[in-house]
Amino acid sequence: MVDLGELYQQTILDHNRNPRNFRRLETANRTAEGSNPLCGDRIHLFVHVDGDTITDIGFQMPQGAGCAISKASASLMTDAVKGKSIAAAEEMFQAFRDMLAGGTNAPGKLAAFSGVRAFPSRIKCANLAWHALHAALQNSAAPVTTESAGDF
Ligand code: ZN
Repeated sequence: MVDLGELYQQTILDHNRNPRNFRRLETANRTAEGSNPLCGDRIHLFVHVDGDTITDIGFQMPQGAGCAISKASASLMTDAVKGKSIAAAEEMFQAFRDMLAGGTNAPGKLAAFSGVRAFPSRIKCANLAWHALHAALQNSAAPVTTESAGDF
């Protein structure tokens, strides 16, 4: 029998050690910065949007400025939304946020973060990349922080 908790933990560890899309995207036409002062996580997100589609995406975190949860979440987020429409990406953001707020699990590998629900102080770590994505897609110029956003 597969231990889901174990599987989820492995997924998070894997994406923390080998983050996907961990690069600056020179062709980005949307960017956003996000920070989670409670943990010290900082992310710089680069998105290339073509029409209504996220054709490429990358992120960077300054050395030491991203905990395992925030980095793994950013990695999984970029994997999940690459090639998707803006509307689909926003739907995933909603599903992810709902899951962490106690709702049903988000689809696919994003469910790996369902265990974070039990650790309220880490929810902002998991949400950080998604809020940065949302800000980038809104083309918001202002940096986002997990403290100023009221609906975390
Ligand atoms: Zn963190």
